[in-house]
Amino acid sequence: MPAMLIAGNWKMYKTAAETIEFCTELRPALEPLDGVEIVVCPPYTSLDEAVRVLAGSGIDVFAQSAHWAKEGAFTGEISAPMLAELGVVGSLVAHSERRQLFAETDESSARRIAGVLDAGLRVIACVGETEEEREAGETEAVLRRQVEAIRGAVEDDDVHRLTIAYEPVWAIGTGRTATPEQAEEAHALIRSLFDVPLLYGGSVKAENAAELLSQPDVDGALVGGASLEVESFAAICEAAAQAA
Ligand code: PEP
Repeated sequence: MPAMLIAGNWKMYKTAAETIEFCTELRPALEPLDGVEIVVCPPYTSLDEAVRVLAGSGIDVFAQSAHWAKEGAFTGEISAPMLAELGVVGSLVAHSERRQLFAETDESSARRIAGVLDAGLRVIACVGETEEEREAGETEAVLRRQVEAIRGAVEDDDVHRLTIAYEPVWAIGTGRTATPEQAEEAHALIRSLFDVPLLYGGSVKAENAAELLSQPDVDGALVGGASLEVESFAAICEAAAQAA
């Protein structure tokens, strides 16, 4: 396992044409970076282009979500075998925007995780408390519940294809980052529950990446906004290479 994993979540940004342009610039900006595995997570409509332009670069392409069934009457959904056929090697699951805006629950997330792993792909499963939950002193209980749901979905043989991303909801897209101490405290708790690679996510930028990535239980970052520009994403990947 590489020492660090940096994943860029593009959310609903970049058309197919913009993806070709971005990935063409990204390749030379990132090679070579020892000890860092790099992943981009474009929207479904850009996956094919990303796989094609990044082929042979060592940069992997993940989807942002996937359905639990292989196929079926699930209008608007995409299955993991469909992603695998494109050359996509994994998927995010249970991002807080999926939980908050699209009614995903611990139960539906667990089913998606099992479906993606069953198709032979990798999973980055997201957990994290809301601001209200943190203020109410419920962070630990929320993380325990979310991590246990994930753990229950993963067969022992598949654990090596799972990564968990701790993303405090109050830090996503807000410019507010967890302090390195807050991130480390949450990561240490998660690691005590399920010992898999752990990414921190929530307003990670070139300026704060090194400090967050230097924490002992932080194995990488899931990056939203700052992954949309080649320069800022490359700078975060370079900070990871220094920390690796
Ligand atoms: C994310 O989308 O997973 C994320 C962490 O976003 P941002 O870096 O913009 O906070």
